[in-house]
Amino acid sequence: MEKLDTEVRFIKGVGEQRAKAFEKLGVRTLRDLVMAFPRAYDDRQTVKRIEELQFGETCCVSATVATPAKLARIRRGLDITKCVVVDETGRMNITFFNQSYIGKNLIPGQNYVFYGRVGGRIGTPEMQNPVMEAEDVPPAFTRRIVPVYRMTAGLSQRMIANAVRQGLALCGDEFPEQLPQYIREQYRLAQTRFAYENIHFPRDAESLELARRRLIFEEFFVLSCTLAFMRSRQGKKAGKRIGAPDMAPFYKVLPFALTGAQRRAVDEILGDMTRGERPMSRLIQGDVGSGKTVVAAAAAYAVIKDGRQAAFMAPTEILAEQHFSSLTKLLEPLGIKLDILTGGLTAKQKREAQARLKTGETQLVIGTHALISDSVEFDDLGLIIADEQHRFGVQQRAALSDKGDTPHVLVMSATPIPRTLALILYGDLDVSVIDELPPGRQTIDTFLVGESMRERIYKFIRKQVEVGRQVFIVCPAVEETEETPDGLKSVKEYAKELSEKVFPDLRVALVHGKLRPKEKNETMGAFAAGNIDILVATTVIEVGVDVPNANLMVVENADRFGLSQLHQLRGRVGRGGYKSYCVLFEGGGGDAARERMRAFCKTNDGFKIAEEDLRIRGPGDFFGSRQSGLPDMNIASFATDMDMLKNAQTAAKELLASDPELRCEENAPLRESVTRMLEKNRGTLN
Ligand code: ADP
Ligand code: MG
Repeated sequence: MEKLDTEVRFIKGVGEQRAKAFEKLGVRTLRDLVMAFPRAYDDRQTVKRIEELQFGETCCVSATVATPAKLARIRRGLDITKCVVVDETGRMNITFFNQSYIGKNLIPGQNYVFYGRVGGRIGTPEMQNPVMEAEDVPPAFTRRIVPVYRMTAGLSQRMIANAVRQGLALCGDEFPEQLPQYIREQYRLAQTRFAYENIHFPRDAESLELARRRLIFEEFFVLSCTLAFMRSRQGKKAGKRIGAPDMAPFYKVLPFALTGAQRRAVDEILGDMTRGERPMSRLIQGDVGSGKTVVAAAAAYAVIKDGRQAAFMAPTEILAEQHFSSLTKLLEPLGIKLDILTGGLTAKQKREAQARLKTGETQLVIGTHALISDSVEFDDLGLIIADEQHRFGVQQRAALSDKGDTPHVLVMSATPIPRTLALILYGDLDVSVIDELPPGRQTIDTFLVGESMRERIYKFIRKQVEVGRQVFIVCPAVEETEETPDGLKSVKEYAKELSEKVFPDLRVALVHGKLRPKEKNETMGAFAAGNIDILVATTVIEVGVDVPNANLMVVENADRFGLSQLHQLRGRVGRGGYKSYCVLFEGGGGDAARERMRAFCKTNDGFKIAEEDLRIRGPGDFFGSRQSGLPDMNIASFATDMDMLKNAQTAAKELLASDPELRCEENAPLRESVTRMLEKNRGTLN
């Protein structure tokens, strides 16, 4: 163990300066160093004879220096070192730019291996600035597969590789083997030492693959153990159980009957809360429009009837207001006291709302992040509902939890996550899936169109507005990053063009992410109230707004969006019983993108779309960067290594069944890794 904790600055050739550079790569100790796997590999295994060289190819040549190196100073800042090398089949020119020191390493009569791109004229090949090493040393940078590391200023590939090589040597036999032998045998996994050596300096392609397999498995295995470990810890905290609720009055005021899937979800929720062995921790996952809100309302009703309070957290003020108004309509007739708490209230309103919460007068509070603020206290918080959970950090959820005595937690997500992934992502949550839409929903007709259709689409937009409907036009949200100010300009200009030239007689407005929340809310509110005909928007409208009168969603440059995102956008229309449409302008994304979007036009099934999206883009993009709630993985990928994930989960479950606390001596290295993973992902996982 100890050696792995040695700091890299003690490695020969590293020192203080380079240690700082390594730190930028997240490398402080030997362990970090050997865990900093290459991001790619350069296959330099091919060695050719000079007469075999093809113009433009990149390969190694083993040759003898025939002429002393000649250094020419062309001008200030440019010098050239030239020499000729030969093998038994021909001669080759070697040229180095601005490496004046290199001449003394090119000793006539000695053999070297050069690796580079073949240039020069027919008959006299040439390599410029090749990688070079003496032929009689063990191959390090030529004649083999060479690692390519992530770089930072102050370090070169060679320096990193040399440091890693020394690191591996220093660690010697200290690589802890955290996979028990029976698991290694069962899944045919390489040994740890072999894996680390070959992931950095693969003997050949096959060894690299063996190393990768083992390390991916190992990473998933540790993750699975960590999650299971956390779950068993949480399981020990008892939740306050609620008494079996009489739901009849609730069902009686509902203007519709629940779908089978909604009813199942409600039953599961009530089951969790009435059992009370541990606090409920459940994810309701249902496609856009599947009716998650009433399910949440049912949960709140049950808790409130048991004499406790419920908090409903929405990601935006608009959504909070929407939920507040629809839940008030539903629950007030049942004698429940509702309140709203958002950042938009005046200080006085806030104080009053907080006072009502603290005394317990308010039974259900709906709000935004404002609910988390320190000044918010509850009398007896029994249930937390978080809508569109991927917009909330796990930490925020936890902060709200701390305001009650182990309250039950219900999170709702419209991002349909494939089951395999949900298991990892929400490992600490039970999952209910609402896989059925309320009756009478129409599918939204979706069309993929090119620029040539623009005039016709504009006519179509006008036609919808003329019969009283409203229209969304969404542009890719390029403006949200500082680096692309032009993106915002173009959205603004486009909105201007639409309002001044294309639809001068219609009411056109623009919302984008750079607006102040107040402005954004005002515009969105005006649209919801029917005072705007066409809303040009970046993806700020993606989450949950309900405008039943809107029946047409037009997406510009649709190729820039992920399919799941498009699905969310499409879900903004078709909420009011009007025949609804989604039109995608295909943009310049090419054939693959077009193919994807065509498939999208043919299905309304969010799960199918999510699986496809995950397959194509991986989970980072899938959830939007940094919002995934997934721990950063070093080598394993949630997108492409699913099979491995399943195996690792099975293996982890078996191992934990026999040693739940990882107390056995032989599981000590694993226990350490689990601890490290918990540390590293504090806030993401726990
Ligand atoms: P989401 O799952 O996207 O949050 P909502 O809860 O906003 O969906 O529900 C979408 C719409 O469907 C709402 O207008 C809601 O009143 C309606 N709805 C929900 N459940 C049913 C049902 N069982 N039958 C008919 N309409 C329903
Ligand atoms: Mg919703």
